[in-house]
Amino acid sequence: MGKVYLVGAGPGDEGLITVKGLEKLKEADVIVYDNLANPDLLKQCKPTSELIYVGKKANDHTMSQEAINDLLVEKATDNACVLRLKGGDPYVFGRGGEEGEYLYHHHIPFEVIPGITSAIGGLAYGGIPITYRELASSFHVFTGHFKDATKELDWATLSKLSGTLVFLMGVGNLEKICSHLIQYGKDKNTPVAMVHKATTPNQKAIVGNLETITDIAKAEKIKSPSLIVVGDVVKMRAYLNTFEEKPLFGKKIIVTRARAHNSDLAKKLKELGAEVFEMPTIKINPIQEESLLEEIKNIKTYTQLIFTSENAVRIFFETLFHNKLDARILGALTITSIGTKTTHTLKNYGIIPDIMPEDYVGEGIVQILRETLTDKDNILIPRSKNARSYLVDELSKQCALKEVPIYETLKEEMPSNHLLNLLDDVDYITFTSGSTVKNFIEIIGKEHIKKLKDVKLISIGPMTSQKIKSYHLEVYKEANPHNIEGLIEALL
Ligand code: SAH
Repeated sequence: MGKVYLVGAGPGDEGLITVKGLEKLKEADVIVYDNLANPDLLKQCKPTSELIYVGKKANDHTMSQEAINDLLVEKATDNACVLRLKGGDPYVFGRGGEEGEYLYHHHIPFEVIPGITSAIGGLAYGGIPITYRELASSFHVFTGHFKDATKELDWATLSKLSGTLVFLMGVGNLEKICSHLIQYGKDKNTPVAMVHKATTPNQKAIVGNLETITDIAKAEKIKSPSLIVVGDVVKMRAYLNTFEEKPLFGKKIIVTRARAHNSDLAKKLKELGAEVFEMPTIKINPIQEESLLEEIKNIKTYTQLIFTSENAVRIFFETLFHNKLDARILGALTITSIGTKTTHTLKNYGIIPDIMPEDYVGEGIVQILRETLTDKDNILIPRSKNARSYLVDELSKQCALKEVPIYETLKEEMPSNHLLNLLDDVDYITFTSGSTVKNFIEIIGKEHIKKLKDVKLISIGPMTSQKIKSYHLEVYKEANPHNIEGLIEALL
């Protein structure tokens, strides 16, 4: 017999799931999810897990509650570890209680893993604390979706409450909620806020009072899912609205990077509030391990070793380890590292480079290295097959040099329709190498280049900029320094 976990995904921000919920998500065989849970969370599951979407937007029930209940029973009976992922907390208007009860009656073991409810966490991201010492000493959460008139709320009692009132699923009944509260005695000047898509990059909040909020919501086209909050705590938004004030909040950014290495930049941009679309356009493919191994065996004949990318460092050390060697064989060499990422990666392998040129462009590097080289030197450069010949050409005028291509960059295929639609409302695209530019344009198709004219293109450095310009496109900003930090600085 399997087991079902009723897990709260939190209100939207994928970081707001619990540690325990995430752990189970990574283990589950079957994941049954709906609209309010952040779809990015599904990237965390194992590749073999079965993902079942059961929908649920108002009026668009992909699967009835009965069918969902049966599905959970069926999957658990098949021995699976089933995870029922629900937005916010599973027991707050999520029908999680009903699912648990159904499982109980069918003798299926289950467990609940609570989540952060939008009623509290969503408001917090909207800059509204659900309680505040002088303003509200209780809070009350209601559904704003009344099945029929007989099941309506007891407005007389409700209007007397001095605590914070929160309504979920209330957008359609906003006018009714406000007018009833006024009618039953609440001051019409009581502050009201609505927070739409709270905790996501599309969060939007409006503030008014019981009398004005309906018109404001209409004018601002506030739709579901939104929270409605009534009470003086709304005033605290003036001081606590840190989420919407993040520097890149509301910006849509496409990050083009090699698949294995895209998450760093994306993660930092998300932290700054941006909505990030990761578009891997290049894939790193190690090649010619034998040639590299040959040179590693001859390493004593070299005096200098130059790394120009983190990929080169990574592949070089992986080759060493595969062959039961380690960093000790590099003891006598002068090691040069180009780029902060490269240096960082080298340090992770226990190497502090001897030379780290501050200028990351070919010309600057050649100048610095020239000062240290003599004609007795012998340089080994393991690097990308697609790299520019300049560095090798220039340095080989000075001394012996061996270049070993150890990886190639390949175009990553992806559906371009999705990408083309995205181009219509994205703010920025970041490019971190000439090949990301070239591959990105190949993926969207040359005939769609004009779509890029309305998007701000951010380049990591001169070579990348040159590539962008070669397509008659404008570089909005170039990173300085030419690394990820510089790129973020340029965006800021
Ligand atoms: N279990 C969920 C609530 C499900 S009811 C929870 O604990 O949050 C669905 C309602 O929740 C929506 O109509 C909306 O009012 C509210 N809601 C859920 N997520 C929201 C979000 N990110 N932003 C605004 N409202 C949200």
